[in-house]
Amino acid sequence: MKEIPFVNPGLQYEGLREEILDIFDRISLSGNYVLGSELQAFEQNFANFCGTSFAIGVGNGSDALTFSMLGLGIGPGDEVITAPNSFVASAWTIANIGAKPVFVDVGQDFNLDPSLIEKAITPKTKALMPVHLTGRVAKMDQIKDIAKANDLFIVEDAAQSVGASFGTQRSGSFGDSGCFSLHPLKNLHVHGDGGIITTNNEVLYTKILKMRNHGLKNRNECEFWGWNSRLDEIQAAIANLKLDYLEAWNERYLEIAKFYIKELDEYLLVPKYEQIEKPVYHRFIVQHEERDDLKEFLQNKGVMTAINYPLPLHLHEASKPYGYQRGDFPVAEDQASKILSLPIYPELEDFQIEFVVKCVKEFCKL
Ligand SMILES: *Cc1c(COP(=O)(O)O)cnc(C)c1O
Repeated sequence: MKEIPFVNPGLQYEGLREEILDIFDRISLSGNYVLGSELQAFEQNFANFCGTSFAIGVGNGSDALTFSMLGLGIGPGDEVITAPNSFVASAWTIANIGAKPVFVDVGQDFNLDPSLIEKAITPKTKALMPVHLTGRVAKMDQIKDIAKANDLFIVEDAAQSVGASFGTQRSGSFGDSGCFSLHPLKNLHVHGDGGIITTNNEVLYTKILKMRNHGLKNRNECEFWGWNSRLDEIQAAIANLKLDYLEAWNERYLEIAKFYIKELDEYLLVPKYEQIEKPVYHRFIVQHEERDDLKEFLQNKGVMTAINYPLPLHLHEASKPYGYQRGDFPVAEDQASKILSLPIYPELEDFQIEFVVKCVKEFCKL
């Protein structure tokens, strides 16, 4: 058996090569490389896909979070509640606008535990940032109720959940804004960095349009000092092309996840999703007491895995100023010691996922 890589974006490119080369050629010859019709078309289609009024392409998912919070008026002295098991960008984007990340422990779904949120709210709390980790939407019905009762904004970190739904709505359509990354490792990705923000708030929308483009309100006049963080025409066109395939790809993610769940349920802890949700399984994470041994065992068999993420956010050196300690978020910490992400991407063949399952079973039977 040839090695099964943990991710393999090149395989997706192989399938779309002709179309992407055409895009590159067409846009290169046009001479319009930033803020043109390709971006507008993608923004429109992406907003439709998510079920929001507007979408704004930006340079990356972290800027999507940053601009959303700044655009909502969040800044120094404010607190934003998020999950301690996320990627570091969920925390540093809060910190770098001068606000304080406040963590709340997660549940078995790897998402914010709604029953713990209210205890963490203070007079300084301005927003909740649920992270739809692994491609599963957080419990947005309860989270929306809490936000409403406490007059808080919701900024969804939807970087891992493009296309995932909860009830009748897609991720990115629940909050004041939805923040997506188009990084090469995400389900919908461009060939480099990229990000996109969804919102139904027209005031926020027009503000972020200026923020991403130096703060300019027209070619020559700056309304406020902004940033340069735009989704290039070539990247937007690639994203727009891939958006046509996304639902089929996400179906394949779910199919692989279902296979893993069915086959591995009795061997180790697998994620179980509920009726009300439709996940996109950006990551498929199992849990095992001897995670490191399992990882090594699989690696020796040629099955590459990852740990997303080994160190909870409150235990990073950068979190020191907040005074958190080990033990503060027992569920996230316990999961961090047991989690292992198995390979999952649409291009994986059945014989490969069967091999992954066979190897995991072999280890668990030892
Ligand atoms: C990828 C990711 C981000 C950051 O996106 P970039 O495009 O890399 O800036 C933020 N949050 C989560 C949960 C992510 O997975």
